[in-house]
Amino acid sequence: MIVVFTDLDGTLLDHETYSYDAALPALAALRVRGIPLVLASSKTEAEMRPIADAIGIDHPMIVENGAGIANLPGHDVKESNHFDSLRRFLQALPEPLAGLFQGFGDWSVEEVAARTGLPPAAARLAKHRRFSEPGLFSGSAQQKAEFCARLDAIGYQAVQGGRFLTLMPKTSKAERMAEVVVHYRDISGEPVRSVALGDAPNDLAMLEAADRGFIIANPAHSPLPVTERERLGFISRSRKAGPEGWNESILQLVETGF
Ligand SMILES: [Mg+2]
Repeated sequence: MIVVFTDLDGTLLDHETYSYDAALPALAALRVRGIPLVLASSKTEAEMRPIADAIGIDHPMIVENGAGIANLPGHDVKESNHFDSLRRFLQALPEPLAGLFQGFGDWSVEEVAARTGLPPAAARLAKHRRFSEPGLFSGSAQQKAEFCARLDAIGYQAVQGGRFLTLMPKTSKAERMAEVVVHYRDISGEPVRSVALGDAPNDLAMLEAADRGFIIANPAHSPLPVTERERLGFISRSRKAGPEGWNESILQLVETGF
C-alpha cells in the first residue's frame, strides 16, 4: 500500500494564507484511492486536529516537527513534557546567551499571531505545546553555535524550519514516518511505499527516507540542496509553490501509478 506524508506550512498550506484550496483535486484523488494522508508538521496537535477534520482525515499525525506523534493506535503517549524541560533550559542560560532565544513560551497570543500570521484563535492553539519550542535566535553565529552545543549536551537539538528555529528532542519527522510505516504494514499485511512532501530543511530527512519525495517550491526561502537521492531520481521538485505544487506533484504521481 501507499502512504503519503506531508508537511503543512509552505507545502500543503500556502506560506502566507495557510489555505490548501489549490490542493483539493489531489486530496480527492488520494481519498478515492483509499491512500492515507499523514500530516507531519511543526504545528501542535491542537492546531493540526481542525485541519485534519476540515480535510476529512483521521490518520496518525506527526506533530511538533516530529517531536511527538498523535492518533497512532497502540502508541504509548506517556512521553515526558519536553516543552517544560526546554523552557527550564532557556531560563537557566547564563549571560551573554540569556534571552537571545525568544520562543512561543515568551510570546503572548498576540505576539505569536503577529510573528506567524496566524489568526489569534489559531495562535492560541499553537501555544498548546508539549514536545518542542519554536522561536528566533538573535545572537551571533558563534553564540548560536554555543547555544546549540549546550542544547545538545542536555539531549536536545535545534532544527531550522522555514520560519523558526525549533528546539526539540533528537527525533525527526523521518523517524516518526518510519514508525507510522510500520503501523500501516502491520495492519495491512502488505509492504508500504512512502511518499513525502516538504519545503524546508526540517523536511529533508523525511524526503530522503521516503521511497518517493517531492520538494515543494517555496520562494520565501532559498531552495533545498540537491542530494544523492534527488540525483538518483527518488526526489523531484514542484514547479509551482505551496498547495499548487502539492496538487501538481500528487496528481502527477497518481497518473504515473506511483
Ligand atoms: Mg514547511
